[in-house]
Amino acid sequence: MSPGSAVSGPRGMTAINPRKLQIVRFPDPILKRPAKPVEEFGAALAAFAKRMFELMQEAKGVGLAGPQVGQSVRIFVCNPTGEASDAMVCVNPTLTDLSGAEVHEEGCLSIPEVSVQMRRATRVMLQAFDVEGRAFEREGIDLVARIWQHETDHLDGKLITDHMSTADEIANRRALKKLRDAHRKRKPAR
Ligand code: ZN
Repeated sequence: MSPGSAVSGPRGMTAINPRKLQIVRFPDPILKRPAKPVEEFGAALAAFAKRMFELMQEAKGVGLAGPQVGQSVRIFVCNPTGEASDAMVCVNPTLTDLSGAEVHEEGCLSIPEVSVQMRRATRVMLQAFDVEGRAFEREGIDLVARIWQHETDHLDGKLITDHMSTADEIANRRALKKLRDAHRKRKPAR
C-alpha cells in the first residue's frame, strides 16, 4: 500500500502492521491533513509507537509524528538526546502557555535536505496521554519545546515548508524539486 492511501481512523490501530510502516515524504498529501485523535490505547498503540521510535532512530531524527508514517492519528514520539530515559510518546497532545521566541534552523524527516528558519516559543506546557491512556503534563524548554511544536504542527497538517521566507525558498528550491519529482514518479497522475 502506498503511504498516501493508508488512511486509518482511530479504530484502525489494531489493523496496522507496524513492520510495514515507513517514513512518508513531502509532498505526500497525508502530511497536509489534520490527524484524528487516538481513541484506542494499549498493546497495538504501544507496538505502533515502538516502530515509530525505530524509524526515527534509523533516520537519526529527534521526533516523528503519526502522519509521517502514513497514519493520520494524533501521536508523536520524540527523543532530544538519544538517551533511552529521554524517549517520550505523546498521544493526543496539546500545547499551552507558549512563551519566549527564538528563530532557529529546523529540518524534518519527511522533507530531507530542507531546512527552514523557524520562530518557535522557547517554553511550553504539554498535556498528553501515554500509550496506556494515562494523562500527563510536562514543561519543555528550548530544543524540547521546539520538537513538541514541530510534531504538534504535523498533527495539524502543518509543515516547515509552510513558513519559508524568500531566502528559505531559494536555498531549498533544488531539494524541494527533487522531492516533488520523486513523489510524481511514485504516484503517476491519474
Ligand atoms: Zn517533521
